[in-house]
Amino acid sequence: MTIVSYLNRAFNGFSSSSKLLLVFSLSGGGLLAYSESQSNSPSNNVEHERLSNKKKVVVLGTGWASTSFLKDLDISRYDVQVVSPRNYFAFTPLLPSVTCGTVEARSIVEPIRNIIKKKDGEIQFWEAECTKIDAANKKVFCRSVIESSLVGKKEFALDYDYLVVATGAEVNTFNTPGVMEYCHFLKEVEDAQKIRRSVLDCFEKAILPDLTDEERRISLHFVIVGGGPTGVEFAAELHDFVHEDIVKLYPMVKDLVKITLIQSGDHILNTYDSRISSFAEQKFARDGIHVNTGCRVLGVSNKEVNVKVKSTGENVSMPHGMVVWSTGVSTRPVVKDFMDQIGQGKRKVLATDEWLRVKGCENVYAVGDCATIDQRKIMEDIGAIFNAADKDKSGTLTVEEFQEIIDDILIRYPQVGLHLQSKHLLSVTDLLNDPEGNARKEIDIEGFKSALSQVDSQMKSLPATAQVAAQQGTYLSSCFNKRELANFIPEGPRRFKGTGRHDFLPFRYKHLGSFAPLGGEQAAAELPGDWVSVGRSTQWLWYSIYASKQVSWRTRVLVVSDWTRRFIFGRDSSRI
Ligand code: FAD
Ligand code: MG
Repeated sequence: MTIVSYLNRAFNGFSSSSKLLLVFSLSGGGLLAYSESQSNSPSNNVEHERLSNKKKVVVLGTGWASTSFLKDLDISRYDVQVVSPRNYFAFTPLLPSVTCGTVEARSIVEPIRNIIKKKDGEIQFWEAECTKIDAANKKVFCRSVIESSLVGKKEFALDYDYLVVATGAEVNTFNTPGVMEYCHFLKEVEDAQKIRRSVLDCFEKAILPDLTDEERRISLHFVIVGGGPTGVEFAAELHDFVHEDIVKLYPMVKDLVKITLIQSGDHILNTYDSRISSFAEQKFARDGIHVNTGCRVLGVSNKEVNVKVKSTGENVSMPHGMVVWSTGVSTRPVVKDFMDQIGQGKRKVLATDEWLRVKGCENVYAVGDCATIDQRKIMEDIGAIFNAADKDKSGTLTVEEFQEIIDDILIRYPQVGLHLQSKHLLSVTDLLNDPEGNARKEIDIEGFKSALSQVDSQMKSLPATAQVAAQQGTYLSSCFNKRELANFIPEGPRRFKGTGRHDFLPFRYKHLGSFAPLGGEQAAAELPGDWVSVGRSTQWLWYSIYASKQVSWRTRVLVVSDWTRRFIFGRDSSRI
């Protein structure tokens, strides 16, 4: 029996209230309870002296990547300052639940000052946004975001020895006219709160006297642009809200509600396994959520969404009550400006190497959605690899010579491992076989090149998810903590160009699975090992995992009690 079917059976044996209890106790194994200890700020001169000798680390952002970096960083070695316009961490996977009041906004945020309290020193936090990174002078320029009558200057600069850029990304409108003015986004906590108010406004508007049925219908037409996980989850939340709560409160207009999901690709959830996207499409069809695939939005006004249907080429206007835009992310202006300075101006996303160091400058790291890892191609180093392997300088490589460097190759170029899997090869040395598959004793440089020529096509960039961001933050803090040790005992693979070894192992992402809640207490999940799970048991797995992943016991208790409240009393429809 698989774990999922086991959980399915186990959960189905419980009543709703005991399921919640079970979820709650499961979540007790949660991983991220931050230290609650009191901060112990340095009080004497010796301590100050020591502090000033420490390397200065400036961290930009208080999101997934930066908080996981700060959580594990050994601050006895570094003088750390954090800059962010947001003085809290937000658990973004639950943002769609905030849009309809399933979970309250304050239940999914944790003050950053709680997170950065440490036993052995202090991390400074400045509520400000970074307006410019000056990599040449190792400075960042910042501006306070506090609006009210602030005495003194709003702007300041910070020097750094190491900079960690973790500013995330901003919404991508693809320059579609009207999107900025007339659409809602679902990126920040404030966005979710605005959506919640706006949904309720649409219902209050629709029941005003003297409106025609058509006007009521338009007011209750909710359009969601983007069939990715966020758009799909919001559509499902909205559908549940309408059918579980709103129908009782606004019975006169309940049949006029329409939810339309617009997707430019052929399927919704198209980054997931095809079984999940078809399950989601079938469920939405049963629920009456209109899924319009193969449609591109040309523009949005305060009254209509203009859509081009790709298959027929015709343009369609959809009158709407509100539109939520959820189509992906793009680079923030401060990062774009930084990219221009360091010769990355032509790229779309800031590039780092596999150690998360920003390419083109010194001592700057980038983690999370603001950057992407530019994985080194094996073909760029093929000559150097051949020379390093050909120990006897015979101009040919024997299987034994190749075997000696295989481990380093597999670590430095993970695409080799993926290539072996895709070709179902059991051993790396099978790569050296001739085109007919026969083993060769020796191979020259041309043969070596053609043996590895397909490998780089396996390279994939990592998705912009909290999972990637959090793992990168944890990885980077472990490198920072081991920095001195690595000078003596480098742990990374050998350098094929140059001598010695790399200080650290390159970052390696471990996919732990992804979920798509689809409403009506059903969810779909893609779990490691190509497992796909759909249905009610998956929703309960989702509850337990998301409860366990909360950053503190405080938010864990709040989230679980919000779910309980919703089960018992329904969602709160007050427009506050
Ligand atoms: P963020 O978490 O966005 O943090 C960026 C930080 O930088 C913020 O604190 C911000 O205030 C700060 N900042 C911005 N500009 C500046 C500046 N100029 N100077 C200083 N600081 C600045 N991922 C999953 O893995 N699973 C999910 O289920 C999931 N669901 C999601 C649902 C929604 C609705 C959304 C919007 C995202 C979801 N994601 C999910 C994606 C996930 O939230 C992101 O990938 C993740 O937040 C990226 O982390 P980050 O640290 O790079 O950026
Ligand atoms: Mg040789």
